[in-house]
Amino acid sequence: MKAINSVKAMFPSRSVNEGFARSVVASFASTVDPTVEELCDIKMAVSEAVTNAIVHGYRDTLGMVYITVSLYPGGLLRIKVQDKGCGIPNIKQAMEPLYTTCQTGERAGLGFAVMEEMMDRVHVRSTVGKGTTVTLDKKLSLRGA
Ligand code: ATP
Ligand code: MG
Repeated sequence: MKAINSVKAMFPSRSVNEGFARSVVASFASTVDPTVEELCDIKMAVSEAVTNAIVHGYRDTLGMVYITVSLYPGGLLRIKVQDKGCGIPNIKQAMEPLYTTCQTGERAGLGFAVMEEMMDRVHVRSTVGKGTTVTLDKKLSLRGA
């Protein structure tokens, strides 16, 4: 299926850029007049995916985070969040609620659970040593269309 519209953004993995990523995606989604709830869900899911790229993918290093947001016919919004960081050895395990590799107790292991709750589909592709791509899909209601 060919996207009707698409934008890309890239930024270094500094936590200050989480807000930027959220805003880019929200601005793009706003062009098709989503509901307040849809917009909240999208922003929350993007935050979780971008935070993961920054704190897990690149851990104590700096790298680039790539975001692509696309709109498909029928109102499917697809967001790809990609890092070229450490990768995930066991994706199924990583996506289980409460699973975290964080040793300090700062993280709950709920990021993927939140993404799955907020979006219609969450797909993760990852190769250890090469990086991770999280694809988040949401079908928008397109009230005005
Ligand atoms: P929380 O999101 O609640 O703060 P968390 O980040 O540990 O905690 P999840 O977001 O569910 O929980 O992620 C689970 C685990 O998957 C992480 O602890 C980490 O080991 C791994 N992970 C997630 N995203 C990435 C990524 N982009 N690169 C490498 N590992 C990742
Ligand atoms: Mg997380």
